[in-house]
Amino acid sequence: MFEKILIANRGEIALRIQRACREMGIRTVVVHSEADTEAKYVKLADESVCIGPAPSKDSYLNIPAIISAAEVTDAEAIHPGYGFLSENADFAERVEKSGFVFIGPRPDSIRMMGDKVSAKDAMKRAGVPVVPGSEGALPEDPKEVVRIARAVGYPVIIKAAGGGGGRGMRVVHTEAALLNAVTMTRSEAGSAFGNPTVYMEKFLENPRHIEIQVLADEFRNAVYLGERDCSMQRRHQKIIEEAPAPGISRRLIDKIGLRCAEACKKIGYRGAGTFEFLFENDEFYFIEMNTRVQVEHPVTELVTGIDIVQQQIRIAAGEKMLLRQRDIEIKGHAVECRINAEDPYRFTPSPGRITTWHPPGGPGIRVDSHAYTNYLVPPNYDSMIGKVIAHGDTRDQAIARMRIALSEMAVEGILTNIALHRELMADARFVAGGTSIHYLENKLALRKTSGNH
Ligand code: ADP
Repeated sequence: MFEKILIANRGEIALRIQRACREMGIRTVVVHSEADTEAKYVKLADESVCIGPAPSKDSYLNIPAIISAAEVTDAEAIHPGYGFLSENADFAERVEKSGFVFIGPRPDSIRMMGDKVSAKDAMKRAGVPVVPGSEGALPEDPKEVVRIARAVGYPVIIKAAGGGGGRGMRVVHTEAALLNAVTMTRSEAGSAFGNPTVYMEKFLENPRHIEIQVLADEFRNAVYLGERDCSMQRRHQKIIEEAPAPGISRRLIDKIGLRCAEACKKIGYRGAGTFEFLFENDEFYFIEMNTRVQVEHPVTELVTGIDIVQQQIRIAAGEKMLLRQRDIEIKGHAVECRINAEDPYRFTPSPGRITTWHPPGGPGIRVDSHAYTNYLVPPNYDSMIGKVIAHGDTRDQAIARMRIALSEMAVEGILTNIALHRELMADARFVAGGTSIHYLENKLALRKTSGNH
């Protein structure tokens, strides 16, 4: 096992990885920007190295600075967390070429999944069901594009092969709008992702977002840790996640889960990963694979009792995975609310000093956050400042515990979306379970027109 790991990330996930390391007796190095120097989780680490000024491109995305930090501190492995460099195949390669272990998949797996056209193609060949659409990238010939769209059937969605974070997508309802939409998505994709390749999918009208967590080791052992329902989204950004997905039978989940685990073996995948699907009329349609730990991993940890971050570290250290599919059992239900420093009605970021941080507690409550009273939320990064996760024997109990937790929780000095979460935990449709990916946006639109806020 490693003696020392460098954590190339910040905020709650940097703290989460530190906790996993500490439990395993591994020393930690946290790299940080000038904006994060005073943060408590930085001081908690065994060592810390400042790698640059506040802007991410100068610090958390600064590959030479991170590699140098690993060299001077004599770390053996680098954990990238999520976001930043976590899905950058060049970074993974540079880490390995410099003689460190990258805690994640092989660079070629990251590269394959980072291009959605090649990812979809690989999954199709590995027997995972995908959204119907163009065979690979859209051709240049406009006549061909029109023909493909007719064959797929409107509405269609034009997506950038290199897209991410909910960007680089355009829905098309009529043939008249098609070619213009393709041209625009191509040019946007070229400037935003440096890759103008686009592809076409059938636009699913009312799907849910269901994803499968997998773990795979170097020795082609692979398991799935059940599913998560992440349908509560705004602008393609998840805000509530839960496990298991309400109303979907174990039989359906096991069928798709097994395919995902088999696909991992076929492509030689290593580490933790997530297969994301749209789910409609009892069918799963693969959209993309995330080759890293995800924000919502705690709901799976609470229902399976498996520490996903520790598993990532063990797999990276070359250990054989001891977990077998038959040992994985889903116990109870877990719900996660992402706490963002933002206006709960306008969604504008609200960085600044937290004057009161009073986190909830009690049975079945887990809080993953680096925040505290007097913590200054820097304006430079993602607005998520923590996650509250509730576990119960049943979904109703998990939701009830979440309601209590949110009612206890007090954050002052900045605005947060806690009020929105309180509203959603009391929302009859959410409580019934199984809402689609459009539910929250539709609800928010109604709120606007009724002039409540
Ligand atoms: P990103 O990498 O940017 O997150 P995804 O391919 O994962 O892109 O898609 C993000 C979201 O966009 C999905 O969760 C869903 O809300 C929507 N979406 C993507 N593809 C489709 C589709 N074919 N039909 C309907 N919605 C889609």
